[in-house]
Amino acid sequence: MDDVLTGLLRPKGIAIIGASAKPGKIGHTVVKNLLESGYTGGIYPVNPSADEILGLKTYKSVLDIPDKVEAATITVPAKYVLGAVKECGEKGVKGLIVITSGFSEVGETEMEHELVRIAREYGMRVLGPNVVGTLSNSDKLNASFAPFLPLNGSASLVSQSGALLIAIDAITYTRRIGFDKLVSIGNMSDVNFGDMVSWLDEDESTKCISLYIEGLKDGRRFIDESAKASKPIVVLKAGVSAHGAAAAASHTGSLAGAQKVYSAAFQQAGVIQATDLSDLFDCTLALSLQPPMKGDNLLVITNGGGVGVLATDSAEAAGVPLTFAPDAVQEELKKHMPSFGSAKNPVDLTGMAGNDWYHDTVNFAFAHEWVDGLVVLYCETAMTNPMEIAKSIHKAVAETKITDKPITVSFVGGERCDEAMQWLVENGIPAYNAPDLAVKAMGTLKEYDRLQALKNEPIEENHAANKEAALKIINKVREDGRTSLTEIESKKIFNAYGMPVVQTHLAVTEDDAVKQAEEIGYPVVLKIVSPDILHKSDAGGVKVNINDEAGVRESFQTIMKNAKAYKVDANIHGIVVQKMAPWGTEIIVGSINDPTFGATVMFGLGGIFVEVLKDVTFRVAPISAGESVSMLNEIKSAAILDGVRGEEPRDKKALADVLTQYAYMVSDLSEEISESDANPVLVYDEGKGVKIVDARIILTKK
Ligand code: ADP
Ligand code: MG
Repeated sequence: MDDVLTGLLRPKGIAIIGASAKPGKIGHTVVKNLLESGYTGGIYPVNPSADEILGLKTYKSVLDIPDKVEAATITVPAKYVLGAVKECGEKGVKGLIVITSGFSEVGETEMEHELVRIAREYGMRVLGPNVVGTLSNSDKLNASFAPFLPLNGSASLVSQSGALLIAIDAITYTRRIGFDKLVSIGNMSDVNFGDMVSWLDEDESTKCISLYIEGLKDGRRFIDESAKASKPIVVLKAGVSAHGAAAAASHTGSLAGAQKVYSAAFQQAGVIQATDLSDLFDCTLALSLQPPMKGDNLLVITNGGGVGVLATDSAEAAGVPLTFAPDAVQEELKKHMPSFGSAKNPVDLTGMAGNDWYHDTVNFAFAHEWVDGLVVLYCETAMTNPMEIAKSIHKAVAETKITDKPITVSFVGGERCDEAMQWLVENGIPAYNAPDLAVKAMGTLKEYDRLQALKNEPIEENHAANKEAALKIINKVREDGRTSLTEIESKKIFNAYGMPVVQTHLAVTEDDAVKQAEEIGYPVVLKIVSPDILHKSDAGGVKVNINDEAGVRESFQTIMKNAKAYKVDANIHGIVVQKMAPWGTEIIVGSINDPTFGATVMFGLGGIFVEVLKDVTFRVAPISAGESVSMLNEIKSAAILDGVRGEEPRDKKALADVLTQYAYMVSDLSEEISESDANPVLVYDEGKGVKIVDARIILTKK
């Protein structure tokens, strides 16, 4: 555990630089909050013109404090911050909580760099600047200007937005979801999300890590730290829409990256992504109180058919579709319900269900090996007392002594239900006020398990790859003063990384083209080769299915004419002749160099409709073989690869291999490749492989 960061977040002794005697000033509020939160370490206000603040002895400088000070909050105006940081360094402070704003978020980037430079010189870490502060229930520490410690609990949250942190602090009481720590991370000049994930993963008071992120500054590191973490992590990423992204950027001075790449990175890192603030709370509740759901079998027990149907409806979307319980399970459950009840799934105990039936069925079902997760629903009735039902459920679960299987609950009704659910949450069972939310929470626990398994898959190094050969081609293109590779050059690089490309031969003259075609064998395809023509079809530069010499000659002339008409001064290398590949499903594989995460691969249904359908998915490269397979399965039109309407299933294995190789290639050459694509990749029947028909690589600018 980073000892310096511990000094910052759980300090023994804290100075308040810019402490004020005036109520309403931030420097006053922080002192007041430290006192009111019950912090037991030393509190040392620093203010050159005050002797005492809120009854505490006040120092002219942090250097005058006789005791050890591990952390300092800084609230003085921006122009005095650097001086204060130096003094803290001299004093031996470990961590700075820089509340003062007016740094990179308003363009004062140099001053922010200087702040970090000075802090590093003294071995200090910096939270912020532009933060609300940090709060910890286990340390009774409110070193912030948020009004009070959050409702006590076992999750911890880090927020890039200070205003939202204060709002969440208050919401913890109305939503009854407890947190141990709330940390405002501000401009992330030094301490970033990767640091926080790594530290919180080792923090004994934290069971679940919740994050509100607008834009990461440490993409790769965040993925690595999150992937290493042993605790569940849930994130709400703001800046989803184009408009939202712009708002986030101007807000914190940090650029929010493309949403799809973020989502991919989160998945790879095993991080659960919440859809909105409410969902962030729902996920946090489930993940902080329950273990992951390790199998597929979800059983739902209810006293009302309606909520049972609602639960069934939402189960599929939540990734935990319901199936009927085995006969033996049904037989046993039938003993605890009237004859008109149902023991299938959902198990409907009917409105006659009282404490005992709830207890007995929950007790049996939770212990049964077929059940991998249990959702218990209850509709308020005139004959039952919600609190007693809650206690029966809790008792039934506790008696099984099972702790590696999840349960979630929903009570639907009025105030009595709210009280009962609050009791359940306080006693470790996540409870939601709608059946679909209880099911969705179970889906989150299942998703957590799936992501954990995936992130632990090894990423193979591709030893067969010939990086040298690839670099040779790239260097030659650079010598030419170009950044865009032709189809032939691109295919050579794909080939160096072991991918199956349609062999391509350059012809400069018409006779040349005929000779090549005869050697390859008809039918052939002719295409223009020019670094100035990226989209060959658009320029009339592609002729397919050519069957004889006359066809080759005619196509050659037409393509040349079209190309010159398209761009008068186009630099034309010649025309390629290649084998006409048999028809296959058209796929696109591509890459971008994401500003946050680096080399990132894309996969989707390809061909001419790719831009319209936008049915694509991303992963930060490199990827494991398992990730490739999950990419193939997660696009909307994934079923096409499995063979629809009597078609043969496609060779998904060969396609997954290409994806893994491709990802390896773009990460291995991430310094060189800025964008690339293979469109189309033709995918054939199972066992028949794939062929890359077209290839394009754009180099980074150097
Ligand atoms: P561009 O994308 O630059 O327009 P392509 O090389 O992708 O050029 O060619 C356009 C289309 O022609 C492809 O999408 C594919 O359908 C078809 N095509 C190109 N080359 C071949 C080939 N060797 N075999 C079969 N079809 C091909
Ligand atoms: Mg193409």
